[in-house]
Amino acid sequence: MSHPSEEALKPGNNFLRSIIERDLMPGQQPERHFAGTPGDAAHHAAGPLDPARIRTRFPPEPNGYLHIGHAKSICLNFGLARDYGGVCHLRFDDTNPEKEEQEYVDAIKEMVTWLGWAWEDKAAAEPRSHLYFASNYFDFMYRAAEHLVSAGLAYVDEQTPEEMRAHRGDFTTPGKNSPFRSRSPADNLARLREMRAGLHADGAMVLRAKIDMAAPNINMRDPALYRIRRATHHNTGDQWCIYPMYTFAHPIEDALERITHSLCTLEFEDQRPFYDWLLEHLAAGGLLAHPLPKQYEFGRLNLTYVVTSKRKLRQLVDEGHVDGWDDPRLPTLVGMRRRGYTPESLRAMVEATGVTKNNAWLDYSVLDIALRSDLEGKAARASAVLDPLKLKLTNWAELFGSADHVEACSAPAHPQLPELGLRQFTLGPEVWIERDDFMETPVKGYHRLFPGNKTRLKYGYVIECSGCEKDANGVVTAVLATVVPDTKSGTPGADAVKVKSAITWVSVHEAVAAEVRLYDRLFTEAQPGAGDSDFLAAINPLSRRVITAYLEPSLAKVAAATHFQFERHGYFVADRVDHRADQPVFNKITGLKDGWAK
Ligand code: ATP
Ligand code: MG
Repeated sequence: MSHPSEEALKPGNNFLRSIIERDLMPGQQPERHFAGTPGDAAHHAAGPLDPARIRTRFPPEPNGYLHIGHAKSICLNFGLARDYGGVCHLRFDDTNPEKEEQEYVDAIKEMVTWLGWAWEDKAAAEPRSHLYFASNYFDFMYRAAEHLVSAGLAYVDEQTPEEMRAHRGDFTTPGKNSPFRSRSPADNLARLREMRAGLHADGAMVLRAKIDMAAPNINMRDPALYRIRRATHHNTGDQWCIYPMYTFAHPIEDALERITHSLCTLEFEDQRPFYDWLLEHLAAGGLLAHPLPKQYEFGRLNLTYVVTSKRKLRQLVDEGHVDGWDDPRLPTLVGMRRRGYTPESLRAMVEATGVTKNNAWLDYSVLDIALRSDLEGKAARASAVLDPLKLKLTNWAELFGSADHVEACSAPAHPQLPELGLRQFTLGPEVWIERDDFMETPVKGYHRLFPGNKTRLKYGYVIECSGCEKDANGVVTAVLATVVPDTKSGTPGADAVKVKSAITWVSVHEAVAAEVRLYDRLFTEAQPGAGDSDFLAAINPLSRRVITAYLEPSLAKVAAATHFQFERHGYFVADRVDHRADQPVFNKITGLKDGWAK
């Protein structure tokens, strides 16, 4: 039987693989993606079509920071391209001038790279970068719009937004034709050119496709293609006062880049008929060439105890419920990186969720299983005391001839990686131990320190507890013990006598005081905001606890973003923002076992 954590990390089903394998089979659907003349290649941003290679894309809108759900889309698109010898494009879907910023473009590129993916195609005869911006296609999109108008497939609608909404109908009622729907192509073209020339106010009119106001699929009821919006665009500046709608722009972007498999989340399923309608008509008009891209939908990834809506994440940041986009409690990729999650663990987690037609809720614990499985074999070990209590070795001076004496000790940096060498530290007369490693009155089965019991200071000596010191309130302030000499040699030793436990410790004289940030789930509910509830009401007020811990001396000079396993405690990382060699700050990533299952 395999270990439960291995079970959780097995790659899940992926129905897209079957589709791609079918499409790549010789003679299977060759006309669809892998043959045909490139046609108007000048319009095709990605250059001529490579026969027999798939092309996917990750198309973020640069209007916010990426989160764990995006990691799914990234790993899926780049992963399929890698596995089938294809290419994956990074395309910024920057068609909305108002909310988009360079800051987000840079952050998104950084995160895709951090996750381990590259948009350079090194396998091509001529290696090239596949980084694209939808705004570079504005000229083509506008030409496509004029084409549709001339072909009688689009019209300028001057109804007010309220009228348009009222005439759209709903699932049970068909829509009503706009009074402007029957204008001649020539009139419509003149109007569209006026829109573009800035002769009309924002919102005064829109360009709509002319399809069918009675279509059962509401997305086919003459969807809007262009709107008037005077706004400065991060790439095109003030060149345009009309901007394409997402539903119009996205299929064109895919087609120009010769995407073969356009993968999107389930909410776009109802837009697929329009995606095909638009591309088929543009191909029929000679503006695009077959084969055309094809859209496939997969289920979103949702993670329990966090939110992955951009709007909600922004609200958490803007209202100060967290300390910024990279707060280690957030499921943003910058936040998760800061918390200490590794790219390997995120990729394994995404792989494990598979690709299905359902919006899956992934339990947060799977992420921690993936992290442990990644770091277990590579993170260096260290001793840390998180809830310190002083232990005094009362026979030290007598045994060693001086209270200042220290004994050299060492431990492997990693039990399975001898090449990482040894950690060096010393044992002195006073050490820090965990408060719960002492019980004045032991419970049944407790084998650590209590008066009269012996335990081992891990990598040090066996000691015997003789009692404790307390303050006026009866709180234990120090534990007292003696070093136990070996029964044969009479000298102290790690194996002086057989004991049932070993405890972690750090000598007081060389302990490195560090700020350690302990995190718990950000929300108290698995699906915060489910139904109509206020997601803010589910914020866990105890999601972060900051403590001062004592670390072994080898941790005095570590670089930020270095990972460790603090023995008996879990996985920690030196905070990439606040950690300084002389002022260490560590984040707890997760414990050694699943503490959430309780
Ligand atoms: P917006 O509301 O701004 O559109 P978005 O989360 O869809 O937000 P995009 O930048 O449009 O953000 O997303 C880029 C890609 O990531 C899209 O293809 C989208 O389908 C995909 N994506 C977003 N969220 C998830 C998720 N939770 N699971 C899987 N894929 C996702
Ligand atoms: Mg989106």
